[in-house]
Amino acid sequence: MSDKDKQPLAAPASPEPGVETADAALKHIVDGFLRFHHEVFPEQEELFKKLATAQRPRAMFIACADSRIVPELITQSSPGDLFVTRNVGNVVPPYGQMNGGVSTAIEYAVLALGVHHIIICGHSDCGAMRAVLNPDSLEKMPTVKAWLRHAEVAKTMVQDNCNCSNESESMHILTEENVIAQLQHLRTHPSVASRMANGQLFIHGWVYNIETSQIKAYDADQGCFLPLDGSHPIPVATPKARF
Ligand SMILES: [Zn+2]
Repeated sequence: MSDKDKQPLAAPASPEPGVETADAALKHIVDGFLRFHHEVFPEQEELFKKLATAQRPRAMFIACADSRIVPELITQSSPGDLFVTRNVGNVVPPYGQMNGGVSTAIEYAVLALGVHHIIICGHSDCGAMRAVLNPDSLEKMPTVKAWLRHAEVAKTMVQDNCNCSNESESMHILTEENVIAQLQHLRTHPSVASRMANGQLFIHGWVYNIETSQIKAYDADQGCFLPLDGSHPIPVATPKARF
């Protein structure tokens, strides 16, 4: 081990006031793991024993990588319930353009795990959506810029069709349009298209509001987002099955 390797993780000795040091951040995470290992895990040992050799998730959940979005928390799900994939902007590249992690996860969830639902979940105050509106901010992030081209269609949709009076309104509509665009990309995946057509798979487009915890879901029949409030039938984005 070189001297360099022995250095503590914390870079600055005195960070800005109120900012956690790198050492403190790592300690917080490891302490959390130790609490899970010693306290939480023993309480749910039966569940983890069952999960040790198989999974049968209720749904695939595609969300933004944003740290404020926790799919299991907002749906009150347990380990084994959700097959989650997350990335910047809850993007689904169209089939054939990119054999990356998202396309792989979709194919595996549908064909190997047989999930009946795929939920694409956007959210309020999304940094990716803000970057789509202000592409100059991505000057030094060529990879993010290239990735967010998959959201370009939503930006054009907003620019051409909405008379948004301010950025907050544009962000709101763009976030919804991005979810609709990614649902359309999702339908280009053969495994998804085929199972949707025979009524085995249902797709959903949601937008989660960080400040209020409300979720709005896209209703394909009505062409709009409706609140997921338990008082109406659950809106779905799935077209009618044909087989
Ligand atoms: Zn986001």
